[in-house]
Amino acid sequence: MKYRSILLFGAPGSGKGTQGKILGAIPHFFHCACGDVFRNLRPDSPLGKVFLEHSSQGELVPDQPTIELWRQCIETSTKIGRFHPGEDTLVLDGIPRNVPQAEMLSDTLEVVAMFYLTSSRENLVARMQRRAIKDNRLDDANLDVIRLRLKTYEKETKPVINFYGKKLIHRVNTDQSPVKTFFDILKHVVKLH
Ligand code: ADP
Repeated sequence: MKYRSILLFGAPGSGKGTQGKILGAIPHFFHCACGDVFRNLRPDSPLGKVFLEHSSQGELVPDQPTIELWRQCIETSTKIGRFHPGEDTLVLDGIPRNVPQAEMLSDTLEVVAMFYLTSSRENLVARMQRRAIKDNRLDDANLDVIRLRLKTYEKETKPVINFYGKKLIHRVNTDQSPVKTFFDILKHVVKLH
């Protein structure tokens, strides 16, 4: 069975997490942020260590363990009754993050829409720097790592846009307030139901 899914896509700091949390609060939407799944690992576990090694350098975690961890998280959420695959729409944030991941998930996801969140570089950087303190995010604490993260996004993540194609993509500007961004997203989401 394929999971009906909405993808939140965009550079680090573009507001995927903020919008994902709001959407996930609506009945029959289930928000899953891949970065949160990694941050919930014990830092001294084998994969927790791999995550810290890569994220502190602004790099992506290798694909195989990422997809495995994500599948486990979805299966556990299903078992404990937080996610109901038949009735709920998955709101994915931070995954797939490169073309190989999109390919690995092609038999698992039925993507019904992709929201491409765009923001000025100044806003992206400012949000990451704010978040570093508020959410204790090591990967956002250092301007050099922020630059590397933006580079990784341009090189590895952006090509995912072409994988899903124009029909599914809705471009939303996130230089505006979160509530206006949400309004722009919701205008499309209501049509999917
Ligand atoms: P942001 O919200 O800034 O886009 P995330 O919280 O989604 O950041 O991700 C933080 C870090 O976790 C990434 O820089 C990367 O190292 C790792 N990560 C998250 N999702 C993935 C993924 N799908 N594939 C590989 N690495 C990932």
